Amino acid sequence: MNLVFLGPPGAGKGTIASQAKKHFDIPHISTGDLFRNHIKGETTLGKQVKAILASGDLVPDTITIAMVEQRLAEADAKKGFILDGFPRTIAQAEALNSMTKLDAVVNFELDREQIIKRLSGRRVCKSTGRTYHLVFDPPKREGVDDETGEALIQRDDDKPEAIAHRLDVYLKQTEPLIAFYRNAKLLVDVDASLAPEAVLAEMVSALA
Ligand code: AMP
Repeated sequence: MNLVFLGPPGAGKGTIASQAKKHFDIPHISTGDLFRNHIKGETTLGKQVKAILASGDLVPDTITIAMVEQRLAEADAKKGFILDGFPRTIAQAEALNSMTKLDAVVNFELDREQIIKRLSGRRVCKSTGRTYHLVFDPPKREGVDDETGEALIQRDDDKPEAIAHRLDVYLKQTEPLIAFYRNAKLLVDVDASLAPEAVLAEMVSALA
């Protein structure tokens, strides 16, 4: 199953993807995570994109497309994949069309007020990448990761000024993909305001 998860930042794509990958036994490929790993590893690419991610802007298409093409060529992606956070522009979607054939594009629908609530409460463990939410999914012990006990941090791009900018970027550059994929008859809408188990169940039954 070749899937794309589309939707605004904070809609829960990553959370659902981490469960859906077990359900379908396919890898979860998040371009945001790939970039953050490069930044953490201080690679050439990481140094190139660090400031872009902190601002909430999009990394240039050529860089992003090349990274995804390389990732999809890895052995585990042969049996299928969940692309989370890619494509984000029409140019990326066209490039993806020439790389592979998709089975469905899941469109996570969530209104602006809820997006802001979710993003501003999000906290993350830098080393494991595990995410929490201050209200909806708090850690067992305040401020630290359940597994490692490390202090949780707020992503720079989850800070209020960056959130507003990321939403603008989403509306201008990524939302047009909804019509693009609806025209291609690939779009499956899900109500992302529900609890994660309900979103997963709705998606699995829609895909069946
Ligand atoms: P995410 O974790 O999906 O919210 O992505 C975090 C950041 O990574 C975005 O705000 C962009 O700066 C960058 N990024 C992730 N995916 C893409 C993409 N498909 N195209 C361009 N930039 C991306």
